[in-house]
Amino acid sequence: MLEPSTPVQYVKGIGPRLAEILGAKGIHTVDDLLHYLPFRYEDRLNPRTIAELRAGEMATVIAEVRTSGLFRTRRMPIFQMTAGQGRTRLRCIWFNGTYLKDKFKPGQMVALYGRVEDSRGELELKQPQFEILGESDGEAADQKAAASLEIGRIVPIYETAGQGRLTSRWFRRVIHKTLESLTPDLPEGIPSAIRKRLNLVPPREALWRVHWPDEGESMQTLMNWRTPAHIRMIFEELFFIELGLELKRRQQKAQTGIAFELNDRVRDAIKKILPFHPTGAQKRALKEIAADMQKPFPMRRLLQGDVGSGKTLVAFEAAIIAIESGHQVALMAPTEILAQQHYFSARRILEPSGYRIVLLTGSLEDDRKRETRRHIAQGNAQLVIGTHALIEQKVEFAKLGLVIVDEQHRFGVLQRFKLMRKQDGHVGTGTSNGHVGTGALSEPALSDRTKKGSRMGPAERSSANSSAQTHRSSTTSAAEPDVVVMTATPIPRTLALTLYGDLDLSTLDEMPPGRTPIVTKRVGDERADEVWHFVRKHVTAGHQAYVVCPVIEESEDNELKAAMKMYSELSKKVFPDLSVAVLHGRMDPDLKERVMRLFQEGKIQILVSTTVIEVGVDVPNAAVMVIEHAERFGLAQLHQLRGRIGRGAAKSFCILMTGGKVSEEAERRLDEMVRTNDGFKIAELDLAMRGPGEFFGTKQAGLPSFQVASLIRDRDLLELAKKEAAAVIAGPNSEISQAEIDRALKHMRTKWQKTYGLVEVG
Ligand code: ADP
Ligand code: MG
Repeated sequence: MLEPSTPVQYVKGIGPRLAEILGAKGIHTVDDLLHYLPFRYEDRLNPRTIAELRAGEMATVIAEVRTSGLFRTRRMPIFQMTAGQGRTRLRCIWFNGTYLKDKFKPGQMVALYGRVEDSRGELELKQPQFEILGESDGEAADQKAAASLEIGRIVPIYETAGQGRLTSRWFRRVIHKTLESLTPDLPEGIPSAIRKRLNLVPPREALWRVHWPDEGESMQTLMNWRTPAHIRMIFEELFFIELGLELKRRQQKAQTGIAFELNDRVRDAIKKILPFHPTGAQKRALKEIAADMQKPFPMRRLLQGDVGSGKTLVAFEAAIIAIESGHQVALMAPTEILAQQHYFSARRILEPSGYRIVLLTGSLEDDRKRETRRHIAQGNAQLVIGTHALIEQKVEFAKLGLVIVDEQHRFGVLQRFKLMRKQDGHVGTGTSNGHVGTGALSEPALSDRTKKGSRMGPAERSSANSSAQTHRSSTTSAAEPDVVVMTATPIPRTLALTLYGDLDLSTLDEMPPGRTPIVTKRVGDERADEVWHFVRKHVTAGHQAYVVCPVIEESEDNELKAAMKMYSELSKKVFPDLSVAVLHGRMDPDLKERVMRLFQEGKIQILVSTTVIEVGVDVPNAAVMVIEHAERFGLAQLHQLRGRIGRGAAKSFCILMTGGKVSEEAERRLDEMVRTNDGFKIAELDLAMRGPGEFFGTKQAGLPSFQVASLIRDRDLLELAKKEAAAVIAGPNSEISQAEIDRALKHMRTKWQKTYGLVEVG
């Protein structure tokens, strides 16, 4: 009998070599293998007759090979095969089909799948997928049994693996065998009341039917992943994810936090700094944040809002609440430029009220750095602004109360889990040992301390704390600091709520007044002269412009070269009479700062830059942006870049220049940019186009995404799963017993550990 946890190499027909190929696909156990679902199905129970085919449809046809052969056109070799049913015939062609040369023998039965096309009055299949029926993969004994898996039923089609070594047919046979020897008692973690309410089929039945659908199943429902078997599997995955998130959220709430005071004095202090009337959305967000801060447990809140919606002001207001109750605040930005900018605006807005602000960046000289750290450790510094990287290195705070993480979208969602995990970790963070624990995204630091933490018991821990640091404040409370994470990649509320189930959510869905929408135009680079003329016109009228240089894949060096080339061309040839400067990531930090400041002060008219200005930079007088080779940028990135303009009252223009070949997908991105300014819409389209893995950066982080669920397709089930999970976490009731809750939690922990590699849930 196979158990779900059995390693795949012990499945008959797999062995160590193939197990390795499967491992590369994330398939390690029987359970993983059974969650490798077909991406489509073929109806080989009622295949179409050739006579019935209509141009334009996707169809499965089973027919006999008649003739085949390779012929060359001037452009490429084409392989042609004619298949027949009785007297009717169907031509199939494959471009560059040399590899098919000896593939087909007359008389063989083949299953073909592809789009039916009309080629000069005759129907043909172009590039169809095919399977020669009854062909064995070298296991003659099984041939007859195997053949029965290929015709006369609805047949699952799997993605191949190992550069085609593991074919769809291979998966079909192996998965079928695995199902046959699978233990009859699979654990059921979903409480029975939920199963009944949602009509969920039992786990074993779901596995069988999702791979081997019943004869009567509708092809349409199968392709939409909405058969009872699919629903069960998708719901199950989402339910246990949501259960984990809900539990985390509960646990966070149960920890000791700081109850900040919000009295009239604090309110006045906030009012005093306001440079303008907050928008309704800003007021609402602050109210939500303030309410959290007053409560005695740690705040974990996501503040999302489109670029330019005014998140910084809300952050400063929250900072005042913390500072006024005698706590320190850390504000972390993803880049040094952005940290500097926050520092400038903090000084402009907060210093007049006497708040003490420090900037901690990598470019400070060692002496200054030491000095700054001392100020932080002694509690003189009330607001500490720096890059994530910098603050997360053991900065000691005297009394850290609030951590604000800006532009969170740079990090993958699973990294965020880690950030939170660290928060929950056993090593005290924040005030308890004087370290900032939040945002510690750098792996080594993280695993180090997490490991250390989990080895220590409470007694050891406090001794480690007391011996740990020199400058420690008198506070030894283990209260966790509050955390606000800000992101400019807004996602629809329902999606955010389910996805960031462990965070509370505030959304700035309103722009500050007086903005005129940005006009976005797409222009081919043969019209560069016109574009530069346009830039000149606006700059001489008193505005400033950005020229963003193209992203060059995998080479920062080349990106730099492109920027320098553009800079020299613009400064020497096109705008010799204007003040043009360049900004890129490799520049000396001091110089970077100077350039940014000069641009902010309006002394630089045209700023040529790489994508370093992508996040957060705020210069309201900049009204024109030219993006070179816009087709190379991702959608979210283009939107972020464009968000640098349109911040003042003047009408702003974003010019997307394209050069060379523009792919179909790039076309869609550019169209969307021209069509809308709405960050929510753009984020949604981006999510749909790239898939959640890339969108949330889980791919880069090398972490698995969902096994079977899809954020786009399965939103309905996601919401359902969240609702049910919350009910389970809320505790036993007339429907669900404590025993069932315990069982569900146990199941969830195993799943999280195994599939998402998250160890410390619950
Ligand atoms: P983001 O949400 O992208 O971080 P910022 O906080 O940088 O946006 O704000 C964008 C611009 O809008 C800044 O110039 C800021 O001063 C301005 N701003 C923010 N709130 C308001 C408001 N309520 N009224 C007018 N201008 C505002
Ligand atoms: Mg910002």
